[in-house]
Amino acid sequence: MKLAIMGAMREEIEPLLKVFNVVAEHDIAKNKYYEAKYKNHDIVLAYSKIGKVNAALTATILLEKFGCQTLLFSGVAGAVDRTLKIGDLVIADKVVQHDVDITAFGHPHGFIPESGDFYSADFELNEIAKKAALTINKKLLVGTIATGDQFVANEEKNSWIGKTYGAVALEMEGASVGYVCYCYGVPFFILRAISDGADMDAGFNFDAFLESSAKESATLLISMLDLIK
Ligand code: SAH
Repeated sequence: MKLAIMGAMREEIEPLLKVFNVVAEHDIAKNKYYEAKYKNHDIVLAYSKIGKVNAALTATILLEKFGCQTLLFSGVAGAVDRTLKIGDLVIADKVVQHDVDITAFGHPHGFIPESGDFYSADFELNEIAKKAALTINKKLLVGTIATGDQFVANEEKNSWIGKTYGAVALEMEGASVGYVCYCYGVPFFILRAISDGADMDAGFNFDAFLESSAKESATLLISMLDLIK
């Protein structure tokens, strides 16, 4: 089975590139795709660049051009659940686009006709993540991750997203990757380590903790690879 592994920013895949054995590089649609081997896995690794459109493009290429049959995302996110601290790990049981708004027509926030709103991440992969978290002695929160094309650095917006979608964390790619995988019938997994509180200090904290939090996320992902058949 060929695994797709994605991040949004270079910092999010760098810790993976360091341990994977890269066997080929491809330039496609203004992005780099790394074919790699790690233990018994055939992997295609890429960072999409930030936001839903970039993430959807990269996910589609990973499935269409490379024929990947499972997609794992590793990266950082802002906290919505106030028990989350910087460096803590979160996985999505489902993802939603928090910035979709056609409520003027009576649809709920996040909903697109013939497309839906919440997309479920793969149950088995989440179970593997929980086991892997135990092996590295890390807590792991499971909940809704909300995605939108904005860096949230505002308490009001943060709590609106929490209340409206029941989200525990927010970021800028997960739901678009999830939606692409849902359309192709490919199981997906969204893992994030908290880089900031999506509050007024978010910009400052993001810059300070991007690298260390990206590493936390990558470390769990690597330990999952030992458990994925
Ligand atoms: N500093 C970067 C921009 C980072 S955007 C630059 O100038 O190039 C934030 C990235 O981290 C996105 O990929 C998003 O998925 C995630 N993220 C972390 N904290 C976030 C927050 N508070 N709001 C939205 N996305 C966040």
